[in-house]
Amino acid sequence: MRYVSTRGEAPARDFEGVLLAGLAEDGGLFLPESWPLLSAAEWRALRGRPYPEVAARLMAPFAEGSLGEETLLELAQAAYAGFGHAATAPLVQVAPRLFSLELFHGPTLAFKDMAMQMLGRLFDHVLAKRGERVTIVGATSGDTGSAAIEAFRDRAAIDVAILHPQGRTSEVQRRQMTTVLAPNIRNIAIEGSFDDCQDLVKAMFNDAPFRREMRLSAVNSINWARIAAQVPYYAYAALALGAPDRPVAVSVPTGNFGNVLAAWVARRMGLPIERLIIGANRNDILARFLAANDMRVQSVEPSLSPSMDIQVSSNFERLLFELLGRDPAATTEIMRRFRAEGHMPVPDTAWKKATTLFHGSTLSDEGTLGEIRRLWRESAYLADPHTAIGMAAARGHLPEDTGIPVIVAATAHPAKFPDAVERATGFRPPLPERLADLYSREERYGVLPAELGAVEDAVRQHARRNAA
Ligand SMILES: *Cc1c(COP(=O)(O)O)cnc(C)c1O
Repeated sequence: MRYVSTRGEAPARDFEGVLLAGLAEDGGLFLPESWPLLSAAEWRALRGRPYPEVAARLMAPFAEGSLGEETLLELAQAAYAGFGHAATAPLVQVAPRLFSLELFHGPTLAFKDMAMQMLGRLFDHVLAKRGERVTIVGATSGDTGSAAIEAFRDRAAIDVAILHPQGRTSEVQRRQMTTVLAPNIRNIAIEGSFDDCQDLVKAMFNDAPFRREMRLSAVNSINWARIAAQVPYYAYAALALGAPDRPVAVSVPTGNFGNVLAAWVARRMGLPIERLIIGANRNDILARFLAANDMRVQSVEPSLSPSMDIQVSSNFERLLFELLGRDPAATTEIMRRFRAEGHMPVPDTAWKKATTLFHGSTLSDEGTLGEIRRLWRESAYLADPHTAIGMAAARGHLPEDTGIPVIVAATAHPAKFPDAVERATGFRPPLPERLADLYSREERYGVLPAELGAVEDAVRQHARRNAA
């Protein structure tokens, strides 16, 4: 499989190339040159299969020419072995036609583990084959950093340095990062904000000699391999509900648009997903786009669902490219104007196409607490604030055809956001057994000022120590 950039100026690459590169050289995002399509019989053959098998089968066309299905199966079995549920991503019914697809049984209790655990193994495999090493640097306000650390801990060919804003992550989130004492992991608390951390990471990537010396790499949500590893769970759930012989709808609490894009990809591969529902908190740029073709950047407001507090949904560019009939010149121009003017001028024809499939809605913090309370009272189901937003959006956009069930992506374990759950239900959800001692584990991290030189020195020292 070859991959092209949405901006059309970067050379095509294979799967290994897009895995290691992340962003294309022209600033665009990689997409496969064509979409693989499964027949009804091929979908049916996956029904009832263990999750790693479904993952390997559905990722194989995307990795064609780089990794075979058998290798992918080995990697997937290792990636999902540490999950806290025998079904990996269990499907739980919470109301008539409403199903919770629990994506939070991985090591950090959020859905990012589903893709990141696979990404860690993919990186390791490809680097070992090439005899190369990389240093992964990243900035985190919480979830992504801990998922990356858990996925890349003890990987032989990879050093990891993660920057977090000192004192500005939740204690659970910080401890999930800083109690990983693997020698290839370095946590750095920056005396500054999340934006300072992000600026430092950008500055390291812009420092060309440093970037080359350290062989810097990133694993943020625009990496195509992460999207590819998120496709299988939609198929896994839809198959359990009767697909391909019965259509389904999907509802996703959305931030960077990566998770819902994966559902769109599953549809492109032939899975009968009739409707894609997007749930947003008050940072509702996507819901405003769907309602009125008004994609306008506003300031980020903190909410009870912090992993969706974003200004710009970076993966939207991939859908835009498709809506424009894969026209890289038009995509580039629209993205240029979006960056310059803060408003994305999407042609009405493309917008209308999007609204035939996508439906969006916005939920306030109060509404989020109300939905958590309702799920608890009516179904004895405990949802975290992100999942609750997906549930409420699904209720608001149930397909008229009563035969169609909605799969809601449950993106975090309720114990990850105990304060909000307590406000809604009156009690604090306990951490799962395997994390119960999190608060007594040893922590290790350095503290540095928000200065590029100091941070680069720390990253260099960390990588050297491991190379020695
Ligand atoms: C990252 C995250 C989201 C948003 O996912 P996107 O792929 O960015 O749309 C939603 N919920 C939780 C708990 C997350 O960690």
